[in-house]
Amino acid sequence: MPNYRELLQQVKAEIEEVDAAQARDLLQSAEPPLFLDVREEDEWNEGQIPGAIHIPRGNLESRVENAAPDHTQPIVVYCAGGSRSAFAAKTLGELGYENVASLAGGYTDWKRNGFQTQLPATLDPEKRSRYSRHLLIPEVGVEGQLKLLQSRVLLIGAGGLGSPAGLYLAAAGVGRLGIVDDDVVDSSNLQRQIAHSTERLGEWKADSAKRTLEALNPDVEVVTYKERITSENVDRILADGWDVIVDGADNFPTRYLINDASVFHDIPVVHGSIYRFEGQVTVFKPPEGPCYRCLFPQPPPPELAPSCAEGGVLGVLPGIIGSLQTNEALKLCLGIGEPLAGRLLLFDALSAEFNDVTLRRDPNCPVCGEHPTITEYIDYVEFCAGRPAHA
Ligand SMILES: [Zn+2]
Repeated sequence: MPNYRELLQQVKAEIEEVDAAQARDLLQSAEPPLFLDVREEDEWNEGQIPGAIHIPRGNLESRVENAAPDHTQPIVVYCAGGSRSAFAAKTLGELGYENVASLAGGYTDWKRNGFQTQLPATLDPEKRSRYSRHLLIPEVGVEGQLKLLQSRVLLIGAGGLGSPAGLYLAAAGVGRLGIVDDDVVDSSNLQRQIAHSTERLGEWKADSAKRTLEALNPDVEVVTYKERITSENVDRILADGWDVIVDGADNFPTRYLINDASVFHDIPVVHGSIYRFEGQVTVFKPPEGPCYRCLFPQPPPPELAPSCAEGGVLGVLPGIIGSLQTNEALKLCLGIGEPLAGRLLLFDALSAEFNDVTLRRDPNCPVCGEHPTITEYIDYVEFCAGRPAHA
């Protein structure tokens, strides 16, 4: 039986090796080989050869065929010093890979030569701990959490729906949250608007929510817009770059404006509304499902508009509906699951029942249809007396 040193020598005699300078030339060639890093996770996290893929030595046999299905593809395999990669190269040969070389001297030698390295996109130990329950879900994992940290969600309103939505989006680590709200905290808000508190009475809701969300999670940057969305500012606000809009506004002018702007900017809208014991959630993401104007092309005439008198609402209902909106927003950011596009989810708090209505897209929709007739913003007048309430 050969000892380790003899075995390594034997293996090295059977495989091809390249030194760091040759590997660098290959990496810079017109058709670079696949660089395969077989080190352990913690070694990979400290730096790697640019463009390399990572399969720890222990998982090589089971994972390599997914990562490199073409057995004729040239591969340079490397580890820290060139030993593990020698064994890996031999294994790859046995698996039918025809063109494999091991990097002699490994990553250590590569770095010593001053060749280019890159740091992986990864989570530091603090974030690993904070998001550990996400990392345990295969559909999220490190990759998904990094996506969330790079995601940008705009909240329309920091009220009943915006409060729970903002809290859960911040807790989940959505890296950038925008809050549009031109209102201040009033004592009648505190029965349901849980981002605020008694000591914040009279403060801008946007500022109050920003303090709450940034205290909850310092990974999150909150951008505030203490203004009411109008045709004048909507493009400026949306131009700040948002992946998803969570709409918690409860008035017609804003709803139509957000709808038209989201179609023009191609940003999905997670819509929620609440009244007394009933709540609704849907996702407007044409062409997957309708936009708001597919359903209601024009606002009703003022005389038919619903009363805007302050509607009562059970305090927890916005918590339920705002959380469902967050669920949709997180799915859209992660690109997983089925968004509620083309479906209206209805919740009745008294019977504790959910119902689900199909919503169809209108090919003749004035905004998202084939021949749109609305191509500019329209400021609708408020339909009722008194200031429009944010839900
Ligand atoms: Zn439409």
